[in-house]
Amino acid sequence: MSYYIPDYRAKSIFEIDYDKLRKLGIKGILIDIDNTLVPMHTRIPTEEAINWVKEMIHLDFKVCILSNANHERTSLFKDILAVTGVGMAFKPRKKGYLKALEVLALENTQCVMIGDQLLTDIKGGNKINMMTVLTEVLDKNEHWFVRLKRVIENLFLRKQLEKVEWI
Ligand SMILES: [Mg+2]
Repeated sequence: MSYYIPDYRAKSIFEIDYDKLRKLGIKGILIDIDNTLVPMHTRIPTEEAINWVKEMIHLDFKVCILSNANHERTSLFKDILAVTGVGMAFKPRKKGYLKALEVLALENTQCVMIGDQLLTDIKGGNKINMMTVLTEVLDKNEHWFVRLKRVIENLFLRKQLEKVEWI
């Protein structure tokens, strides 16, 4: 299967069937920050993000932030949300994902990568055989470079994405 195609898609992290993830053997969640956990340019975690983390902990998931943002931004989120995290991950490179697995002390088959970008979040997760869930962007007001990537994604992948199951 193409590296760019997620296992599942979801409207947002708030609308994922986490019971189903558990039943599929998932114990750890690698989560992207921008436009997945919070809208782009959101300086600190939103109340929704804080509540989401609480819910995940309650459901007994381990959470690790995996972001291409700088260490400062990643640390801020990590500290406020009281979860683990890997910043400057250079997704889709494997290194950050492997670091996150090490931090969570879980195997690739026990984790899911949740993110809004096919070319980074999803591709990287697929490269290390991890379950991937593509979410829709929380905020359409994106940087031109990210928008350009989405145009490319749409051109090549829309047909295939339409076949992906919602979770
Ligand atoms: Mg993102």
